[in-house]
Amino acid sequence: MRGTSEGPEAPDTPDARVARYLARIPKADLHCHLIGTVSAATFADLAGRAGLDLPAPPEIIWRDINSLPPDPALYRDTRVPVPQGPGPDEPERPYSLFQASEWVSAALRDADDITRITYEAFAAAHRGATRHLELHIDDVPPHLASLGFHGLVDACVDGIRLAERDFGMTGRLIASIDRSRSAAEALAFVRTVVDRPNDYLAGIGLANLELAGPPERFADAYRLAGAAGLHRTAHSSEHAPVAVNTATCLDLLGCDRVDHGYYVLEDDALVERCRAERVPFTVISTTSRRSWRPWRRASIAAMAEAGLNVILASDDPGMFPTSLTREYRIAADAIGLSVARLREMSLAGIDAAWLPPGEKAAARARFERELDACDAELRTA
Ligand SMILES: [Zn+2]
Repeated sequence: MRGTSEGPEAPDTPDARVARYLARIPKADLHCHLIGTVSAATFADLAGRAGLDLPAPPEIIWRDINSLPPDPALYRDTRVPVPQGPGPDEPERPYSLFQASEWVSAALRDADDITRITYEAFAAAHRGATRHLELHIDDVPPHLASLGFHGLVDACVDGIRLAERDFGMTGRLIASIDRSRSAAEALAFVRTVVDRPNDYLAGIGLANLELAGPPERFADAYRLAGAAGLHRTAHSSEHAPVAVNTATCLDLLGCDRVDHGYYVLEDDALVERCRAERVPFTVISTTSRRSWRPWRRASIAAMAEAGLNVILASDDPGMFPTSLTREYRIAADAIGLSVARLREMSLAGIDAAWLPPGEKAAARARFERELDACDAELRTA
């Protein structure tokens, strides 16, 4: 009997053996926001030092994060039904993920704080056998303007290097465009990004509320990133109940991955194309919109059923009650994916990672070795 790194020793039942297997298999997390990895405890420390005035204690705010869905009328006719009412566990006084993220940004005082939260993100991921982690980072917040975007990147890279040393992990950064900004602002941000290349900054992304910024607005910014040799991804077909945004991300923005993408299911032809091209979709069961969680799970089940290359990710694991291991557990227990499919997903994750070819080949060989060892243990248990 062995305990897992994520809990006390479990009884040696088949379910417990699968749980141990899922905790131990090597994982790549390709969709995770640095700010969203900050735990309530770290936030309490940072907010205390920064003298931040908060409406409730940090642990209460984190417990009660629950973003409200956009206009429910938008989601009346979707193929996978979106729950229209509140969820069963809605907090009385909810805080949005956006608000919590703003508070974390405001609580960061300097480069050391940024290095700390980066390192802690890797340490938490390491506890769940994540071997490769790619973190979305936003533009530098106004109160840290003197640091500049490249100072922010350097501080993150210091954290990644410590994680490489301490945990044997690999990591990369994704410069995330806030889609509520204008095309010109996004282009200026990407100009800054490409102005000083950094091996750890592998690509760009597009985040925040999809309904506020359609992908086509960012064509120029994405073209510039592509010309500079950066990888590209975007949050897509997540809030906007349309598949066309994902087609735009692939064709106009040149994305080689898609974050979320659930509403791609609205268009059979696009599903078939994405299946044939093996477009990686980074998916997360646990959203900050609690009432939407059943829809998310049903969508991931349908995407997997359709043969799409879905890869589990953690998104905001400091703020949601989740981790990448927990997402694997939910996929097995609540979505019904087989152990064999989850094993494939582990490899699909490292295959879709934004590492240079040599490093990726080494990482894949390590994944195969570790998976073989986990498989052998599962068979003989
Ligand atoms: Zn995200």
